[in-house]
Amino acid sequence: MKHTLESLNFSNSFAELPDSFYSLVAPTPFDTRAQLIHFNMAAGKLIDLDYDHQHAQFIADIFSGKSTLKKSKPLAMLYAGHQFGHYVPQLGDGRAIMLGEATSSKGDRWEIQLKGSGQTPYSRNGDGRAVLRSSIREYLCSEAMFGLGIPTTRALCLVGSKDEVYREQVETATMLTRLAQSHVRFGSFEIFYYRNQHDDIRILADYIIKHHYPDLASQDNPYLALLEVVTQRTARLIAQWQATGFSHGVMNSDNMSILGLTLDYGPFGFMEDYNPGYICNHSDHEGRYAFNKQPEIGLFNLSCLAQALLPLMEVDSAKEVLASYQSQFLSHYHLLMANKLGFSKTSDEIQALQNQLLSIMQNNQNDYTNTFRALCRVSKSTTSNEEYFLSLFKNSDEVTEWLGRYKHLLNNTNKTDKERCNFILGVNPKYILRNYMAQVAIKKAENDDFSEIDNLLKILHNPFAEHVEYNHYTGPAPAWADDIQVSCSS
Ligand code: AMP
Ligand code: MG
Repeated sequence: MKHTLESLNFSNSFAELPDSFYSLVAPTPFDTRAQLIHFNMAAGKLIDLDYDHQHAQFIADIFSGKSTLKKSKPLAMLYAGHQFGHYVPQLGDGRAIMLGEATSSKGDRWEIQLKGSGQTPYSRNGDGRAVLRSSIREYLCSEAMFGLGIPTTRALCLVGSKDEVYREQVETATMLTRLAQSHVRFGSFEIFYYRNQHDDIRILADYIIKHHYPDLASQDNPYLALLEVVTQRTARLIAQWQATGFSHGVMNSDNMSILGLTLDYGPFGFMEDYNPGYICNHSDHEGRYAFNKQPEIGLFNLSCLAQALLPLMEVDSAKEVLASYQSQFLSHYHLLMANKLGFSKTSDEIQALQNQLLSIMQNNQNDYTNTFRALCRVSKSTTSNEEYFLSLFKNSDEVTEWLGRYKHLLNNTNKTDKERCNFILGVNPKYILRNYMAQVAIKKAENDDFSEIDNLLKILHNPFAEHVEYNHYTGPAPAWADDIQVSCSS
């Protein structure tokens, strides 16, 4: 082990901010024995932490609050946010506690946060706990997003217990340790705006600029530059979600990261059959956070952030930044979609082609991920390998016609079939985290078998590789998966 846990290079810069930003509060350990369910070596490396199974119990005790690292200064962050369109004046980490910030040998600083670590002053009526099921889902999905190259918080380890918690039924409490360079949210700014604590908005913005966007400090108005860069990152993030078929499920402004990370995994879902109106969250009756609404909700959330930053900038300048969001989103999205089709850049013709394909896929209920990946079988000049691609469509007439137009455009490019095929396989994943895959891991874990978490991490960390032994995870969801319902309850 390069670093033992005790020698982690801890700093507590967030705890040095005024005490109106957080509450110092220690995690509440489980009543029953803490059991290490999984340690993610890939995330451990970020803070130079290696896993050694001899230390499993020690790791479980640290990351469940039973033992404390000397230099840590645990705290829960304060924030507010717009939930389902309405401002909620106080939220905050109701079940998360940051232990401190570890600096790696590379000089990167990572906040170490426990989720499900007991009540805090912000718990409202909640028990401060997270259940095994939702913790496994967040654990797997944050690593799946990382594997797909989409900015995200990371998952370091999962610690389980036999403590009973009550959701719709009795479940067991689990703590997830996550890492992020910052967990600050849009809502962290909103709370000070609505409380009229304008000095605190500036202090928080200065903190974020100093630690995360130091180049902005020399701009004419660093705060406006901050809004600009967060707008850019959010536009790019949501374009990546759309291109991958990912639905967040609860895009409240308190779940939007100031660093443009995917943050707070709850009732998320990767789309299987292509359906632009896909709603992954069973509690979202109005479809506010439906898949195809995500880009506009991104703008709504950025407007909430801009509103909160208004004391630091001219309103017209803020509006100008917000007005740039749509075109930034579209340019990222169209490029990513052109790439999925095997083109290095986009054009009006390619966009028309991509829209036609999506509409055919919707009519035919095609699997979003598998259909794009199968495009590598299409050749510029022959039809010999096309059968598999065509077999994915219930009605192949429409797509045969589409293929003709596709090949016509391919013939205008200079990539060989082989080059294009490799390109397509490099941007269209073979594996996404289908709900049923997480469910298999959860069901096994409920019987103390954690092996599937490890199996899934192998493929999710490298989702573009073949992993033939896991081919079954590319298939349509089994019939029992129809009953899986994910909601905000976690
Ligand atoms: P989420 O929907 O998980 O993003 O959470 C929204 C807000 O509710 C945040 O302030 C959470 O900290 C809080 N929260 C969610 N679940 C619990 C819980 N079991 N106990 C306390 N607070 C919770
Ligand atoms: Mg949240």
